Amino acid sequence: MARAIYPGSFDPMTLGHLDIVKRASQLFDEVMMAVVANPGKAPLLPMEVRVNLIEEAVREIPNVKVGSFQGLLVDFAKHNNVSCVIRGLRAISDFEAELGMAQTNKTLLPELETIFLMTKAEYSFISSSTVKEIVRLGGDVTKFVPSVVNDHLKRQFSRGIS
Ligand code: ADP
Repeated sequence: MARAIYPGSFDPMTLGHLDIVKRASQLFDEVMMAVVANPGKAPLLPMEVRVNLIEEAVREIPNVKVGSFQGLLVDFAKHNNVSCVIRGLRAISDFEAELGMAQTNKTLLPELETIFLMTKAEYSFISSSTVKEIVRLGGDVTKFVPSVVNDHLKRQFSRGIS
């Protein structure tokens, strides 16, 4: 069985992420979306909330599982029998960082491949950071995130946050 992992902060999940995981689910028997803690970024949403929202958003795609992990991606991949890492690319600027990560992971675990899926043009400008910024300023992100995420953000941050 070909199993892939799609790791990310997903803080919050956007329509760009949803599109990538839908397409990956057509290429692999099973895809796990794995939320990782990124100590370098102050999170908008706690880990459990990010996981719950993703579970809701991918509910209709039977071969997509959702999880979270801490530590090294290669260790998680090894323990879960994952052969491939999925990452999305929006622009050359993404590629620079992604290439380094892919090469590092390949050096640590040679049997682990990284596959990049190119963003659809209509999602190429969407990022979790932009969504966070808009939410923090009390704006509307309906056009950027899955409806379940939008509902949650509206409920929690309807007046914006400081
Ligand atoms: P990170 O893992 O760097 O914190 P994210 O959680 O924002 O980043 O994104 C996880 C993965 O999804 C990354 O490979 C990122 O390039 C990709 N991605 C983010 N936004 C989009 C988008 N709009 N279209 C396609 N891929 C995206």
